[in-house]
Amino acid sequence: MKRKQIVMAVLTGAAVLSGCGQQETEIKETETSQTQSADPFVPEIVGTYEAEDAQLKGNVSIGSSREGYSGSGYATGFSDDSDACAFSINISEDGFYDLGLATAASDYKENYVSVDGESVGTITSDDTEFTTTYLTRVYLTQGTHEVEVSKYWGWIDLDYLVVQTSEPLDASIYDVPAELVNKNATENTKRLMSYLADNYGTNILSGQYSPDGMYGKEYTVVKNATGKTPAILGLDFIEYSPSRVANGSSSNATDLAIAYWNAGGIVTFCWHWNAPEKYLTGEWYSGFRAEQTNIDLAKIMNGEDQEGYDLLMDDIDAIAKQLQILQDAGVPVLWRPLHEASGGWFWWGASGPEAYKQLYILLYDKLTNEYGLNNLIWLWNGQDADWYPGDEYVDIIGEDIYPGEHVYTSQINKYLEAVNYTTAKKMVVLSENGCVFDPELAKRDGAMWGFWCTWGSEFVAKNTSIYSYSDQYTEEDKLKEFYNNDIVITKDDIPDLTTYPIREELQ
Ligand code: CA
Repeated sequence: MKRKQIVMAVLTGAAVLSGCGQQETEIKETETSQTQSADPFVPEIVGTYEAEDAQLKGNVSIGSSREGYSGSGYATGFSDDSDACAFSINISEDGFYDLGLATAASDYKENYVSVDGESVGTITSDDTEFTTTYLTRVYLTQGTHEVEVSKYWGWIDLDYLVVQTSEPLDASIYDVPAELVNKNATENTKRLMSYLADNYGTNILSGQYSPDGMYGKEYTVVKNATGKTPAILGLDFIEYSPSRVANGSSSNATDLAIAYWNAGGIVTFCWHWNAPEKYLTGEWYSGFRAEQTNIDLAKIMNGEDQEGYDLLMDDIDAIAKQLQILQDAGVPVLWRPLHEASGGWFWWGASGPEAYKQLYILLYDKLTNEYGLNNLIWLWNGQDADWYPGDEYVDIIGEDIYPGEHVYTSQINKYLEAVNYTTAKKMVVLSENGCVFDPELAKRDGAMWGFWCTWGSEFVAKNTSIYSYSDQYTEEDKLKEFYNNDIVITKDDIPDLTTYPIREELQ
């Protein structure tokens, strides 16, 4: 029976990394001219487990009508949340392993994979023929483990699990230059980027979204829980969107950012861009969600909707004014516009990658070249290689991950996927998260995210008028442990960024 192993570039860190490793080898060889020739890494398969022999839960049963399976059939019928297939696997040596799952589906699907009850990521299926995709660098100790595939989107046929050794991590992925795409970046922006690059791969900056800034609910509960203050304050330009202002919104996010920078912290901004009022079809305050608007970005970008284009330019003008205030105050911004685009749930991602990329590049061009905003570090958060606008528009790559409750795994698979969106060396950060990962696991796995930045409200605080920490996502003792880990940078660790040395590559 045929076993088809298609390597999907975006989905399989191992395969892409091997490409990376070869590049690195070539560089080393030209530098040293003769050392031993590095053979390409060949994984060792340590076990193959047929799904039809595994423990099938809920509605999952054995199927045989789809051709091309191995063994005597495959697991099928993942339709309810409790539906799962659990493999019992045997590992003879502690180490990192890639978990390959052979699946087929009528169209794109994602499903959960856990090891011994801990989420390690999602497996993607996008082929009607059985195809193996890999979760990379799962750390397994000697002994028996349970690998469970459970329903997220469901609707896959699961043929088998193959467990193989992982390629050693290429340490040069952390060796990113402190470069900025905007060559006119301000001194403070260069200093901040130098600081981030100096720490990347060794330390991880802590971050927290807090709509009311450093004295707000989120900061208060985190500080009370950990004794520490996050290095990075996350804010949102949402309430400066003209269609919200027209409905009575106001914001002090810019002032909060200036106060935090002046107090020695670092700021990041996203922008839940409320669509122009003309396009709002639902509640005005949900006007950043695609389903609450009838805006068609493709028509705006191809010239069919000139009025829409002009309205978007007015919106950009409103946000540029805030960024200008920050620039005038000397504040560099980790700027994350048009976030989570490939998910399609925000209007800027609902017309596909081409229209999105046109808007992203237009935004970059206007803010940089027309408004002269040189205090921005461009944090791209499109979350899919097909949505990558190009190396010349991206300083840092960000992923947003909400892995569930009390899930402290490093998310190494996503980290490596993000590293491989481009062959250029870019820093990778966890630009939004629910649960915070365990820094010790990140270090062990090599998932050295430049920073994390936990979203606000229920992700840290109870929904009560009294400021009170919520254990729902990250338990309080875990958060305390993480914030006090030696490799985690909190606000009190940050040197004076207005005098921090600018790295050579930025001079
Ligand atoms: Ca099978």
